[in-house]
Amino acid sequence: MKILSVNAGSSSLKFTLFEMPEEKEIISGVFERIGEETSLYSIKMNGEKIKKDCVLKNHEEAVKILTEELINYNVIKNLHEIGGVGHRVVHGGDKYADSVIITEDVTNTIRNLFHLAPLHNPSNLMGIEAFQEFIPDAKEVAVFDTGFHQTMPKENYMYAAPYEWYEKYGVRRYAYHGISHQYITEYMQNYLGKKDVNLITCHLGGGCSMYSIKDGKCFDTSMSFSTNSGLIMGTRSGDIDAFIVPYVMKESGMTMEEVLDSLNKKGGLLGVSGISNDSRDIEEGVESGNERCILAQELFTNRIVGYIGKLAIFMDKIDAICFTGGIGENSSMTRKDIINKLSKLGIVLDEEANNTRGKFTLITKAESKIPCYIVPTNEELMIAKDTYNLVK
Ligand code: AMP
Repeated sequence: MKILSVNAGSSSLKFTLFEMPEEKEIISGVFERIGEETSLYSIKMNGEKIKKDCVLKNHEEAVKILTEELINYNVIKNLHEIGGVGHRVVHGGDKYADSVIITEDVTNTIRNLFHLAPLHNPSNLMGIEAFQEFIPDAKEVAVFDTGFHQTMPKENYMYAAPYEWYEKYGVRRYAYHGISHQYITEYMQNYLGKKDVNLITCHLGGGCSMYSIKDGKCFDTSMSFSTNSGLIMGTRSGDIDAFIVPYVMKESGMTMEEVLDSLNKKGGLLGVSGISNDSRDIEEGVESGNERCILAQELFTNRIVGYIGKLAIFMDKIDAICFTGGIGENSSMTRKDIINKLSKLGIVLDEEANNTRGKFTLITKAESKIPCYIVPTNEELMIAKDTYNLVK
């Protein structure tokens, strides 16, 4: 059965078509700059990449082109061959622990959660509605980025804020990137040959998050109420004191939206380095002695190491620390900085093994008290697996 895995952002739409249950990737691609004057899309198939310019007013137009191209490239003869479309949905509140077939009730819930994920849920819903229009026969599935954290115990998700904020407004710690952390957990369960794995999983990319996994289930996380929490990210500040917001508003005359926008889009690696949100540029800056890049790298890795300590102290044992995401999979400098700062925990880097990119690799020496691995993530496949399991 063919399953489409979809990730719709505000101006982009990524897709991968899988043959399931073989988990074979047939074709993938991305539509970019949707809603702008000029848009483009690229398609990858059989090792070849095709890029085309176009004009896309909205997500529907992207989905229309996608369905036409699938037929043009002889990937499918007709749309009935697509058995299911799985959508990444960032916020499912505390209603959904597992993926669900999309019904009106589900779309209403996604809409009702717009205020908790204003940057993501509206685009996710646009994607869902576009596919409902163009592939109406395929069953659609919502795979929630917040689903995997639902096993967190209450003492790990509550704030010490007035209790009624939790009861009335849903103010609690959620956790994002769950699809990736779930994929890493399942990968390590297969690798270690047991379900009850104990892990610390570090997803380091444009967005960054860490989870502790106890007996195969999410136990705690660096993420919090919003997607700008915990670790330092490409442009997001991660944790800051809430009182900074009204203080900067008063001092600068900025509105609350402007201050929050700055924290989301002008903070993180970009804000500290003043150069870039991309860790490749930060690395170059570090190598050439740029002080702001050195500071950015230091803050970035210190925050990660701090969270590893915080998560580790509540674990009885740790089978592995796993690195994933664009930075986690590719940046040997960042992994080296982090692991060297963990030497007090008896973790010993294998420098040679660490000089690897994007491949499952053990990067610590045999004597290391905790083994560390690069584990490439595959959120698209995770979405396809959940979708297949629900629609088959
Ligand atoms: P993601 O959001 O997981 O796609 O990660 C994107 C980020 O990964 C980029 O912004 C870069 O910071 C980082 N990245 C990608 N490739 C490399 C690389 N070869 N070396 C270091 N960082 C990389």
